[in-house]
Amino acid sequence: MQTQTYDYVIVGAGSAGSVLANRLSASGKHRVLLLEAGRPSHPWSRIPIGYGRLIDNPAANWCYAAEPEDGSAQRKIPVPRGKLLGGSSAINGMVFVRGQAQDYDHWAQLGNRGWSYQDVLPFFKRMESYSGGDDSLRGRDGLLKVTDTGEKGPLYDAMIKAAEGVGIKFNPDYNGAAQEGVAMTQTTISNGRRMSTAHCYLEPARKRANLEIRTGALTEALVIEGKRCAGVRYSLGGVAQEARAAREVIVSAGSINSPQLLELSGIGRPEVLQNSGIAVRHALPGVGENLRDHYSPRMKYAVTQRGITYNDRARGLGLAGQAVRYAFARSGFFAMAATPIRVYFRTREGLESPDATFSCLPFLVGPNRSVAPERGVTINVNVLRSDSTGSIHVKAADPRTPPAIRFNFLSAESDRTGLLAAMRTARQVMNSQAMSHLIGDEIAPGTRLQKDDELLDWVRNTAETTYHPVGTCKMGADPMAVVDDRLRVHGMAGLRVADASIMPTLTSGNTNAPSIMIGEKASSLVLEDAG
Ligand SMILES: Cc1cc2nc3c(=O)[nH]c(=O)nc-3n(C[C@H](O)[C@H](O)[C@H](O)COP(=O)(O)OP(=O)(O)OC[C@H]3O[C@@H](n4cnc5c(N)ncnc54)[C@H](O)[C@@H]3O)c2cc1C
Repeated sequence: MQTQTYDYVIVGAGSAGSVLANRLSASGKHRVLLLEAGRPSHPWSRIPIGYGRLIDNPAANWCYAAEPEDGSAQRKIPVPRGKLLGGSSAINGMVFVRGQAQDYDHWAQLGNRGWSYQDVLPFFKRMESYSGGDDSLRGRDGLLKVTDTGEKGPLYDAMIKAAEGVGIKFNPDYNGAAQEGVAMTQTTISNGRRMSTAHCYLEPARKRANLEIRTGALTEALVIEGKRCAGVRYSLGGVAQEARAAREVIVSAGSINSPQLLELSGIGRPEVLQNSGIAVRHALPGVGENLRDHYSPRMKYAVTQRGITYNDRARGLGLAGQAVRYAFARSGFFAMAATPIRVYFRTREGLESPDATFSCLPFLVGPNRSVAPERGVTINVNVLRSDSTGSIHVKAADPRTPPAIRFNFLSAESDRTGLLAAMRTARQVMNSQAMSHLIGDEIAPGTRLQKDDELLDWVRNTAETTYHPVGTCKMGADPMAVVDDRLRVHGMAGLRVADASIMPTLTSGNTNAPSIMIGEKASSLVLEDAG
């Protein structure tokens, strides 16, 4: 076995890990090793619509599936996760959402010092380069390019009018002073290219002599010596290797693989480890618990006019036309983020901020996520901060055996009532006068389903996640917390976790921007502690 020593070893080159690799190697003082199990890149990962090609493609995706559960009518719902440089930021829908100030203030209220919105705002600003919004709230010269969607047209105009008709105002910057409203999507797309963290953070850093990036390198376990993490064991091309960390190991393997790696290394709930024949090195009951995600039914509406949706414009010859448009103008179907318009709203009175959202895909999704031959739109609905929690635990001591993912969706009453109310608001908008010249029948769930039980049954039978698992190595000071507010694993020296798994609760929206912020904040904590 070959052994090499670095100052920092980072496991996982995803949204957070790539940021850490860039920031920790920037001064030239520290030797940094970044280990990524996946490949360096994939041809579809730079073209925005390649999202549809990568969402279930094992060449760049772990392609996990959840365990059958009541909340999903015993279906094994897909859990895609990026497996290449850039991680999930290289396969995601490129929708850019910070969440609400209240999300981070809540983390601070839970006792996490340094995580209120005022505390994390400088990191949100530092990471982005965006030209809209207010200077005091938005970043202008960060590494991550953020732009407004290039989509426009009668569908969006009508939807904005329809939302305004039910009291939801247009919001020109949902990542600014307040999230609430109907808004055109901000995206991690620039000049028609996906802005993954591989592109924005690793490419500018990869020539640094003190940064080594290894792809195809599966970290199999942490090297634990007493109560200190001294390095990692990984395999590269089938050859076992060891990397020692003179200062720290930072696990940024994402919400599925970070708890899995801790458990494989003997850190976790003793019964879980023992069931898989793993020796307990450090008992920590919260590892793999507190899993949260956005459970989202896809409502579908027929569209009555030609040329409004991509069902007309991105099939057959239309698709060839879109390819030409993309090649010459870097715009159109191939340059589009997953959902170009979104609505953030409150489902009941008395709330301080929105608790639900829906967004619109400007085409009817057909079998295997294809563009259906029929004309229509697809509406993704979800509550913003689900209360249902589940878990992720190893099934075996083998690093190649996928862990058991249990979401426990809809187990919290608040998620059921919130989702029902959100679906009814989406119906109200889609059925309103302002959309009546465009929108035909409700295809799914269909107007014959009206009662709560009928709608919830339909959700259980059809919903998917919006691919935002968080919380499985949660930050906090309670007995179920895995890391403290400096992201150090409780009771262990030399080990941090920094990725979406540290979120104590879900942020109100998509989770790429918060994960990149966590990478930024973590790097500053690590450098501060290094003196
Ligand atoms: C299909 C899809 C669509 C999404 N759409 C959006 C969207 O539109 N907007 C948005 O904001 N968010 C979206 N998300 C969510 C967002 O991308 C993630 O929340 C975010 O990227 C998570 O970042 P992370 O750093 O926690 O993990 P990841 O980015 O997943 O990174 C983890 C990395 O660790 C590597 N790794 C794991 N285990 C090991 C190991 N043992 N050894 C070595 N390497 C390892 C992985 O291969 C991966 O590269 C989407 C996600 C998916 C999958």
